[in-house]
Amino acid sequence: MEQTLFIYNTLTRRKELFRPLHEGRVGMYVCGPTVYGDAHLGHARPAITFDLLFRYLQHIGYKVRYVRNITDVGHLEHDADEGEDKIAKKARLEQLEPMEVAQYYTNRFHEAMAALNCLPPSIEPHATGHIIEQQQLVSEILRNGYAYESNGSVYFDVEKYDKDHKYGILSGRNLEEVKDASRELDGVGEKRRQADFALWKKAQPEHIMRWPSPWSDGFPGWHCECTAMGRKYLGAHFDIHGGGMDLIFPHHECEIAQAVASQGDQMVRYWMHNNMITIEGKKMGKSYNNFITLPQFFSGEHEKLTQAYAPMTIRFFILQAHYRSTVDFGNEALQAAEKGLARLMDGWKALKRLQEGQKVKGAPAVEMSYVDELRSKCYEAMNDDLNSPIVISHLFDACRVINTVLDKKASISAEVAQALLGLFHTFAFDVLGLAEDAEGNNKAREEAFGAVVNMVLEQRVQAKAEKNWALSDKIRDDLAALGFEVKDTKDGFSWTLNK
Ligand SMILES: [Zn+2]
Repeated sequence: MEQTLFIYNTLTRRKELFRPLHEGRVGMYVCGPTVYGDAHLGHARPAITFDLLFRYLQHIGYKVRYVRNITDVGHLEHDADEGEDKIAKKARLEQLEPMEVAQYYTNRFHEAMAALNCLPPSIEPHATGHIIEQQQLVSEILRNGYAYESNGSVYFDVEKYDKDHKYGILSGRNLEEVKDASRELDGVGEKRRQADFALWKKAQPEHIMRWPSPWSDGFPGWHCECTAMGRKYLGAHFDIHGGGMDLIFPHHECEIAQAVASQGDQMVRYWMHNNMITIEGKKMGKSYNNFITLPQFFSGEHEKLTQAYAPMTIRFFILQAHYRSTVDFGNEALQAAEKGLARLMDGWKALKRLQEGQKVKGAPAVEMSYVDELRSKCYEAMNDDLNSPIVISHLFDACRVINTVLDKKASISAEVAQALLGLFHTFAFDVLGLAEDAEGNNKAREEAFGAVVNMVLEQRVQAKAEKNWALSDKIRDDLAALGFEVKDTKDGFSWTLNK
């Protein structure tokens, strides 16, 4: 690899040089959505963050296997071990098959991801398709003495584990803090201690998602699926595990404990976590009931939205912040992102027009060294823990230079213009994953341009009425030269843009 990538490892709390286990290959696992509702802005952030990582790793030459799961069972209410399964609850309320709910929201999630230009993962395993693997994991942990059966359910023995291996290494919490943080539970007497978590839950009679097991008819605990599926598709040891910061505890802490308790050592080498999106200072999330879904952003239909936002505006908004810093949602911030994206895309379009070069007498030339330097600065930013906002600022610098050429204050040779075009394409589209046709406020701009064409054609109607054929023909020919095809119709005119 030519590039030396440093990423922040939550486990060691520092930036580390990334070295994959197997040369040239990377295995990465990212916690996917629980499919009982539409994805919201908070879900867009890990999707875009790890899409950026996926794209960059591939760009610098790695072959990447990217696994992102679909949680379609086992995620109980309030992220605790008691309560009703989120998907089963939705199915019961809407009188649907649980798999119908899961499929519906999986499809909607895929649509939103495609709109955000997130590449599909290499493998997208479903938790319900891996019940056997999860049961095997539970059996191994039982066999190694780190779990106990109680009334048909199986719980992880956190205290026993803590004595041998130390629980809490990822979150930095000690067992006392974990005990205090765990809430009082119903299902009294099943668990030995509050900090213990469920590996298998016996299903109550009304519970509709259930599978036979050596312990009871029931379902796996939420934390099991990622350990079981990560191991199945990436091996007992793999490179990167990612997700939102809110998953560090308890989810990822429990995953580490499950891995060590079952196979004797940790599975994951680099733990990466994106920060949260806040709304009015609070984390945006389903449990806080303060979220705005992605389809609502795209349509503008939500009381907190003053307008619709194009998916690329959302992507650009998220990439404008480093993934480990917080982002506060606000209409003004999104509108600024929309303008910024439009400015970037204007620069791109101008650059395409300049690709044959442009000579201005007496003006200084844009040197190849400028492009080379800008390229190394962009790599430097990406290699420094995926610093996308810095990459964006370098692209804006390229726009500034392009505008200088447009203003005829600088010359550019075809060679330099094409090198700059290549650099822009690499970072804006291949790495940051912006769609090439993104224009930020696309619709409004198109409407404005369309209105101008109509205005010009009204003038032509006027000219024809005055038998000013020279002007009428000139308007038609000039528009044709720009790619507009004008047709005279019974009630006036119609036009199309052939571009
Ligand atoms: Zn997970």
